[in-house]
Amino acid sequence: MTSQERLSVLAGREEIAKTVTRLASEINRDYQGKRPLLVGALKGVFVFMADLVRQLDLPGEIEFIRISSYGAGRESTGKVKVVQNMETPAEGRDILVVEDIVDTGLTVSFLLDYLSQKNPASLKLCALLDKPSRRRVQVNIDYLGFTVPDKFIVGYGLDCNEEFRCLPDICYLGD
Ligand code: 5GP
Repeated sequence: MTSQERLSVLAGREEIAKTVTRLASEINRDYQGKRPLLVGALKGVFVFMADLVRQLDLPGEIEFIRISSYGAGRESTGKVKVVQNMETPAEGRDILVVEDIVDTGLTVSFLLDYLSQKNPASLKLCALLDKPSRRRVQVNIDYLGFTVPDKFIVGYGLDCNEEFRCLPDICYLGD
């Protein structure tokens, strides 16, 4: 059972806050004079997105898209599809995809391909977490919070079978 596994803190709330502030200042600098469309990949991104957008000093818009990747387990199925689409047209927009974690890279590379076919003015990626040890496709992360080891991460929006999303720290399960 997941709830009986050991839970260790990888990044505490103060470190997270500092990192979100750094990312927001990089985004504020790069998108000055623009009106980006921030596209959050649900569900795990909701906490990060809420913290990030409150530090942006831009007239941006927010959208969400839901991509299925892992199903209910911990291993990527490799099968990715849009299960809930965004309403705002992507054409001609400066799109910043906001992801919780890039693991194999399959989900976000599918999402970036999908959005690039809609002819945005620009397309960049902001990821809170990068787990490069398990990468299966190359992904360029323009704004990165933390690089994490090959552990199963929970907390700060990330779940394990819907558990642990509301933990304020970024943690991992197991030893
Ligand atoms: P990828 O397609 O890059 O393997 O996986 C991306 C998605 O899988 C993430 O958006 C997230 O939903 C899920 N995922 C990958 N690694 C982890 C992890 O360590 N913890 C949790 N909770 N989800 C993960």
